[in-house]
Amino acid sequence: MARRAAPHAAGVLTSFLRGTDVEVDTKAVRERLLRRREELRQRASDASADLRHEADPLSADFAEQVTQRESDDVLGAISHSAQAELQQIEAALRRLASGRYTSCAVCGEDIESERLAAVPYTDRCRSCAEGGRTGGRPARP
Ligand SMILES: [Zn+2]
Repeated sequence: MARRAAPHAAGVLTSFLRGTDVEVDTKAVRERLLRRREELRQRASDASADLRHEADPLSADFAEQVTQRESDDVLGAISHSAQAELQQIEAALRRLASGRYTSCAVCGEDIESERLAAVPYTDRCRSCAEGGRTGGRPARP
């Protein structure tokens, strides 16, 4: 990725191209998302351990097998809403990485910064989230 870093741009993504004032501290957001993801994964891991409290003395080998199995099994142990949140967090992290974090997935406009602060993993602007603009993307050049 050949990207020239402006001196002021460290960790801050500004949608300067369209001259709007959406400015997000992507570094802080990323940390927040990663923390939340860790929390959800930990919850999944705990719940999954509760589900199968077999095998009391864990041998090193067994512990390893469990760790491998966990990545597949673990998500089944938490609620669907937690799984959905986890997926939204993953998606938000991908959008952060690709610089599309502040763009609405539906209409392509900027997502309000207060909205991103309130719901850091949202992928749509307020109008789209409220169903105001469900007709798909407007034509853009
Ligand atoms: Zn939108």
